[in-house]
Amino acid sequence: MRILLALTLAALPALADDALLSRPDVKKALAFMEASHERTLASQVTIAQIPAPTFHEAEKAKYMAGEFRRVGLKNVEIDKQGNVLGWREGAVKDTFVLAAHLDISFAPGVNTQVRKEGARWHGPGLGDDGRGLAALLNIVEAMNEAGIRTHQTILFVANVGEEGLGDLNGVRYLLKESPARERIREFISIDGSDPTRIVNGGTGVKRYRVTLTGPGGHSYGNFGRVSTIHAAARVIDRLADMQVPAEPKTTFNVGKISGGTAVNAIAEECSFEIDLRSVDPGVLDRIEAKLFEAVRVGVEQENKARAASGSVLKSDMKLVSNRPAGQTAVSSPLVNAAQTAIGAMGQNPVLEFSSTDSNIPISLGIPAITMGGGGRSGNAHSLEEWFEPANAWKGPQTVLLTILEFDSKLQ
Ligand SMILES: [Zn+2]
Repeated sequence: MRILLALTLAALPALADDALLSRPDVKKALAFMEASHERTLASQVTIAQIPAPTFHEAEKAKYMAGEFRRVGLKNVEIDKQGNVLGWREGAVKDTFVLAAHLDISFAPGVNTQVRKEGARWHGPGLGDDGRGLAALLNIVEAMNEAGIRTHQTILFVANVGEEGLGDLNGVRYLLKESPARERIREFISIDGSDPTRIVNGGTGVKRYRVTLTGPGGHSYGNFGRVSTIHAAARVIDRLADMQVPAEPKTTFNVGKISGGTAVNAIAEECSFEIDLRSVDPGVLDRIEAKLFEAVRVGVEQENKARAASGSVLKSDMKLVSNRPAGQTAVSSPLVNAAQTAIGAMGQNPVLEFSSTDSNIPISLGIPAITMGGGGRSGNAHSLEEWFEPANAWKGPQTVLLTILEFDSKLQ
């Protein structure tokens, strides 16, 4: 039994991190995080109740700027893109970014009131990414409370444009255009809840809006003309049968469709939006080619079927979102630091691919991962989104340990 235990412990990376866990300032910070659980939860609810659909984040940004100042971050500003930035200086100017996103994947007008039912809290954006934003604040407070100094500077960011057609424009601006970009060396995004997961790979995403246009006409009087809705149905029918590999994971979804004006009118216009994803950039290119093919063939079929009328359809395809695929190496110091931190928390780290703000730094060669903010959550991006706060302080604790583990190796 004793031997078995020794072997098990030796296999855990956590032991390598004893030095970090026994630091009095680190202990103090972790204890503060656990003790401030209720306050962090209240802050999460307050943040989530300020509506911030993508492209409409200004009110929440203003609130977070106030919070960044309240917790003592320096040079707090809202940049040209709408991201909130706040600095915590280290010994050197090289900078570690810790980010969470302001926006929610809901249309303007959504009711963001949070309600509690038993152990579950409900609200659009409560977990995704209200939890991440509240975790940012909790981490700053814990570091200040415990007097933790870091080698690198940490830039705290509440960014815009993570969801949907935001297309990661907040982080894209931060890393490609903002004056801060020169100093940025690593990046962690807090998104999702599970603190044992490390997203170190960015799933590639391409989204298209396909618009079909035709002459329209009366459903009876002009019967026989091409219909954009009928053509869209032909296209989508082809897409629905598209074969994609399970590995590397590849998916597609027509998630939105609109068009037509009345039941007795041949539709002049119909458009739909399709989301294509793959872990593998080559496979993503191939399913993109299949989409082009499906549109071409579906429109051709409709035109051919209605050729006697002399009417024809036109199609237009617009790339509305393009998130690059890529990976932060499993052997990189940042991934190792996160694995060590999760191990130190007594958990087994799980590596994952997903589409998050980390896609942008990864595509630029900046080591980046996305980590959970704590608690449990589900049904994100739906009005049924829920969050369970049990043990949620472990999220910010794990992220802080990751940063400190990484940072301590630089000194
Ligand atoms: Zn999110």
